[in-house]
Amino acid sequence: MYEIIVKKRDGYQLSTREIQYFIDGYVSGEIPDYQAAALLMAIYLRGLNQREMADLTRIMMHSGDLISLEGISGKKIDKHSTGGVGDKISFILSPLVAACGVKVPMLSGRSLGHTGGTLDKLESIPGMNVSLSPDMFKQVLNDVGMVICGQTENTVPADRKLYALRDSTATISSIPLITASIMSKKLAVGTDGIVLDIKTGSGAFMTQLENSIELCRTMVAVGEKANRTTIGLVTNMDQPLGNAVGNSLEIIESIEALKGRGPDDVMEVTFGLSAGMLVAAGVEKDYQKARIKLQKALESGQPLEIFKKFIAAQHGQSKVCDDYSLLPRGKHQEPFLAEKNGYISKINAYEVGMAVVDIGGGRKKKEDVIDHSAGFMFHKKVGDQITRGEAILTIYGSDSKSIADAKKRLKKAIAIDKEKVSIPPLILHLIDKKGIHPSPFEN
Ligand code: URA
Repeated sequence: MYEIIVKKRDGYQLSTREIQYFIDGYVSGEIPDYQAAALLMAIYLRGLNQREMADLTRIMMHSGDLISLEGISGKKIDKHSTGGVGDKISFILSPLVAACGVKVPMLSGRSLGHTGGTLDKLESIPGMNVSLSPDMFKQVLNDVGMVICGQTENTVPADRKLYALRDSTATISSIPLITASIMSKKLAVGTDGIVLDIKTGSGAFMTQLENSIELCRTMVAVGEKANRTTIGLVTNMDQPLGNAVGNSLEIIESIEALKGRGPDDVMEVTFGLSAGMLVAAGVEKDYQKARIKLQKALESGQPLEIFKKFIAAQHGQSKVCDDYSLLPRGKHQEPFLAEKNGYISKINAYEVGMAVVDIGGGRKKKEDVIDHSAGFMFHKKVGDQITRGEAILTIYGSDSKSIADAKKRLKKAIAIDKEKVSIPPLILHLIDKKGIHPSPFEN
């Protein structure tokens, strides 16, 4: 291990055998944390080439059980987002794509720092079970056409261990390490293709566009090398997506979207990624045509029925779709008021995400219990006109002290200017095996 660290420290390539030695030894406990941390830092500083990255991804993926989807008919396409604020796309996209005949198996995560977690949001639905055995995962996918749950203990154990170490050694934000971490988990499930939503902007992991593009290119290359059709969209995460931020509020907004009443930005990203999934599945060749097909599917009402079936299959109360009072809602509701007249020019997504953590809707420590009822409902977004004393958003919380803290943060996060600012496009680039393209959708 000492020689492997020296090699990477000095900028040389690691062989496949050396990468295998590192992963096997670290997972079994023979390689101590301090040596693994030294190698991670060397990788962080020196990088990995395409071959090393593909090796690391494949070897990590094989560190635990693989989930085979053999025997399940039809194309199976997964979607992964690098995480954002107000990102509830999975709940709308999965039943929508399933209604177009493509199955959607999704292994998702929990909230992390300022970003919300798909599993936490689902758990705001009474009874919902997000810990499924591999057999149950396959059964729900087969019966409903979609499934969303957490990873089992033994899917990619190498990532579980390495991620915790990276988190405490300042080695998270490395393109090769993020790529291997995410793609090893995605490739462990036997899908036909993967669509990636790589966020960029204040609420994203990668705040700079060039880094987001690089991450997307790298992940697409690793996916394609593993023989999975991989398509990535680079999307804007400078302000929260949609109007609702916080667990149960985002579930309500998603159900509203399935009823045809979704906010424009949420629908644009949903249709864009869903079209990518239909193209990746080979159901459509043209992105615009795929989008029209999806629009018609949404109007048919079938995606809402699939979503209800999915909730029931995972033991949740599907009645929440018709009666939102069954979902938890913060007992204190306070408006956050504009202090001057003008136009909203900025809503910093990172600060909004941290303000949700302040009121209990996210975790400060891994073991923290989430308050599913806490969150914000925005009434105004970037570009909207506002007058002094008007509510920019409503805060839903359980305790007035934490609401006061959140208000301080929101004050920093939101800016009002005299001039109206233009809103940047949401879908910035599409990246596939042929290279980088502008958005295929009309803005
Ligand atoms: N999400 C992951 O699963 N891994 C990373 O490295 C970063 C985000």
